[in-house]
Amino acid sequence: MQKQSICILGSTGSIGISTLDVIARHPDLYQVFALTAHTQINKLATQCQQFQPQFAVVANEQLARDLRELLAQFSSKTQVLCGAEALCEVASATDCDVVMAAIVGAAGLPASLAAAQAGKRILLANKEALVMSGQLFIDAVAKSGATLLPIDSEHNAIFQCLPYGYQRDLNASGISKIILTASGGPFLHREISTLSQVTAAEAIAHPNWVMGRKISVDSATMMNKGLEVIEAHWLFGAAIDKIEVLIHPQSLIHSMVSYVDGSLLAQLGNPDMRTPIAYGLAYPERISSGVEPLDLSQFSQLNFFKPDFERFPCLRLAYEALRAGASAPTVLNAANEIAVDAFLADRLGFMQIETVVAEALSRVPMQSLSDLESILEIDRQARVFASSYVAKLRA
Ligand code: NAD
Ligand code: MG
Repeated sequence: MQKQSICILGSTGSIGISTLDVIARHPDLYQVFALTAHTQINKLATQCQQFQPQFAVVANEQLARDLRELLAQFSSKTQVLCGAEALCEVASATDCDVVMAAIVGAAGLPASLAAAQAGKRILLANKEALVMSGQLFIDAVAKSGATLLPIDSEHNAIFQCLPYGYQRDLNASGISKIILTASGGPFLHREISTLSQVTAAEAIAHPNWVMGRKISVDSATMMNKGLEVIEAHWLFGAAIDKIEVLIHPQSLIHSMVSYVDGSLLAQLGNPDMRTPIAYGLAYPERISSGVEPLDLSQFSQLNFFKPDFERFPCLRLAYEALRAGASAPTVLNAANEIAVDAFLADRLGFMQIETVVAEALSRVPMQSLSDLESILEIDRQARVFASSYVAKLRA
């Protein structure tokens, strides 16, 4: 069998590193075509030394020069490119078969969309890209014949529980509901009145998963689950009232699909992203991932309960944005990115993240999403508004 040639957008991040870990276990199946990082060139140089990609991409010309210098030390043949345009080029190159979309946030949209337009097999971790662009992304996949495989653990679980060849129609497949599980994050049991005081360090200390900083804060506010509700809507063609969120603090059941005959299918496993990554890489086959098998005898109980919108107002906002449609999810995502950045930099309180997002949703005018340019323009407007609102809250 010919090796699959893989581009990893965001290879120095948490998902990027896990992806390379799985690939390294299967040198007979995969080769690395391109690796990209924003600024962490030392990490990227080490990855290039081990995986010898054809291309490496970084943010700007200065970083590219620095990376070239590092690579020269081991006579690497890797070509170094830079800038957002170069990300799109490697993601859509003829010699690339598979794109792991693992850049965090809106910055990942243009390259993920370029992969979709070029008909690649896309392993989608970068949920923000789909949340912002919605129908445009799904249409690009359909038009080019790309294969879109969810890497987000919940959506990967749902994908595994859907009938083979599922055609984006829950009713036609006898499905009554999609149930996204959520850990509830680090503040599930914390006194609500004390939430305004929590620090960034407390917020990024997730009980079950080790992840990047942004998604860790999103898990603490449960905006992450809100983004995932929107992601599920687009990935599976699911109406909003068919998508339910259930808190399950042990994070062993990664999500479930409920069928009209009373069957409830679930996917379980240890919380380790290498499982969904391996599934996406090998689909429809299975390969080893390095993840230990789940030993259920070690767990005396699994718990479940409904989320509380008072504790997690961001989850409610995401449902509202999806219901409002048009540009609302794009605004939700952009304002959230600004608010999370401000929180991480100690310029905004934890409970003010929701305030900034809610205000942006009500103040940035609704618009239709016609193409990438219009989406990026709405994203820009929402960021300008949210940044000035953060400054106003501080004053
Ligand atoms: P991370 O912060 O660990 O890594 C982000 C990567 O994106 C890095 O390689 C970084 O260099 C790159 N990057 C950041 N800003 C960039 C920019 N402006 N331009 C180009 N590249 C840029 O994040 P992560 O936890 O790996 O998450 C990546 C994506 O996967 C996110 O969308 C997240 O929601 C999703 N995801 C992550 C996990 C997880 O377990 N980490 C689980 C599910 C989904
Ligand atoms: Mg998830």
